[in-house]
Amino acid sequence: MEWYNPEDRPMPWKSETNPYLIWLSEIILQQTRVEQGLPYYNRFKNNYPTVKDLADAPEDEIMKLWEGLGYYSRAKNLHLSAKYIAYQLNNVFPENYKDILKLKGVGPYTASAIASFAFGKPCAVVDGNVYRILSRIFGIYDPIDTGIGKKRFEALSKELLDKENPAEYNQAILDFGAIQCKPKLPLCETCPFSNRCHAFQNHQIDLFPVKSKKIIRKTRYFNYLVLNNNNHVLIRKRAKNDIWKNLYEFPLIESNGLIPLEALFEDPDFYSFSGNNYKVVQFSKPIVQNLTHQKIISRFVELEVENIVFNKNESFKIIPRNELCNYAFSKNIDWYLKDNSLYLEIA
Ligand code: SF4
Repeated sequence: MEWYNPEDRPMPWKSETNPYLIWLSEIILQQTRVEQGLPYYNRFKNNYPTVKDLADAPEDEIMKLWEGLGYYSRAKNLHLSAKYIAYQLNNVFPENYKDILKLKGVGPYTASAIASFAFGKPCAVVDGNVYRILSRIFGIYDPIDTGIGKKRFEALSKELLDKENPAEYNQAILDFGAIQCKPKLPLCETCPFSNRCHAFQNHQIDLFPVKSKKIIRKTRYFNYLVLNNNNHVLIRKRAKNDIWKNLYEFPLIESNGLIPLEALFEDPDFYSFSGNNYKVVQFSKPIVQNLTHQKIISRFVELEVENIVFNKNESFKIIPRNELCNYAFSKNIDWYLKDNSLYLEIA
């Protein structure tokens, strides 16, 4: 909440306390991006300023207004619930979590959002943002698509909720997920949790949140040769149509598995880079990086060589070691360059 600034992500329903409008915005935003949902929200709000206006509108008109937004059962449920509120509840929007949950098309997340934003009830929202943030910070490996996992996240969310300011807390955690702890490329360097975030400290950001239905990932094994000569190293730009195109890397030998170092030293490619006169300075632990469709296991071998041998046609270049920071590398190489704890002594 110290991090939170409502101005960072202004949205028309953010300061709203009218439960009808909050409900409308939450239903529209289910499975929909904010930019896409915003004009629909304004249209519905202008055409049906009250729940009774929505209840009395012809269904065809509502469906037409919903056109292009997809998941049309949402519009149908919205209409049914509006009728229920207008005619069974005398236009009084239900106030309690359990009663809100009875509205058609409203699940636990939406009920918590309405109860906290409109009525200040101490109900914690639990959605994809919350799963991601909490699993990363606390290092929760329970899959989010299992009963056990869901219960654990619900219990932790309840415990963490600021019971005095539930609306602000919920808005803060949702904004934190959208702005800071994003699914891809979270802003860890400027994150107030970075010192104690499990995922950040252990290079496991891409691992969280864990799902039981795993995406099948191809595993690749990258052996990088860091060839040192007179405080200079050899790098090259990745040019092929593969991951990390246009980023820099050290000479790379891809293998079929995690091969012993001796086998690597016998690889003809290894010889073509190092020649006969080399000394192994150090090597790293395997570093695991999960991309969407590939799992990359990288290992780095630092060598002191007499001459750096390279093919000038393959976008290689020799640079002073202290200029490495001027080049863009993939994350696995960045980790290696920045984290001394990844080094292993030479046996
Ligand atoms: S350090 Fe990174 S992964 Fe951890 S909470 Fe912050 S942004 Fe998210």
